This record gives sequence, C-alpha cells and structure tokens, in this order.
Amino acid sequence: MATTTKPSESDLEGGSRAILHNRRFLTCRECGWVHYVMTAEEKAANDRLLERYQLSAPERHLYESAFRQCLRCESPTSAFAAAQGRDLARVAGHIVTPVVVDGEVGTN
Ligand SMILES: [Zn+2]
Repeated sequence: MATTTKPSESDLEGGSRAILHNRRFLTCRECGWVHYVMTAEEKAANDRLLERYQLSAPERHLYESAFRQCLRCESPTSAFAAAQGRDLARVAGHIVTPVVVDGEVGTN
C-alpha cells in the first residue's frame, strides 16, 4: 500500500466523502481555510443550474467571484497554496467549499 497525504476515510463525514475523494485541495494563505478545486465540468453543470434564474450582470459577477476567492476572508484564489497534510486534517472540522482556479494555482 502506498502512503498518501489524503485524510483517512474515517476522518470525513459520510456525505462529503464521495465529493472529496481524489480532490485537489487548496489552502488560503491568509486564514487557512481549505477549499477544493471544482472541475470545469462541475462548474459548467452549476452554471446550467443557474441559467433558469436569469441572473442580472451584477448577480452573475457575484456568483462568478464567489468561486475565485476565499469564503472566509475573500483573499483571491491566485494566492492559495496546495493543502498540506495538517490542512487536510482540518477539513473534517469545517465545510470545504469549492473554488475554480487556473491549472497552476497550488502546484508550486
Ligand atoms: Zn482566507
């Protein structure tokens, strides 16, 4: 068995286990909040769900920007770092929120 930095399955609550399996996690450098990276497919599915609401331009902007900043302190995702083992241990203790990032963010 290869060792990984992922939290053990028992650390995650049932409902989030499927969502968080094999995810890339990013940690906000400002406040330490952990986010998971939404795939382009998931983002597209989310966008389709919103189409029925006919968002105005400002509403649309709010919706888009929510995926590009820290939920907690609103730092931009471009400043996020790849989550480390100790960050992932904290994932079990709070809601992990999705972000959409460019491919290179968090790979440094
Ligand atoms: Zn933050």
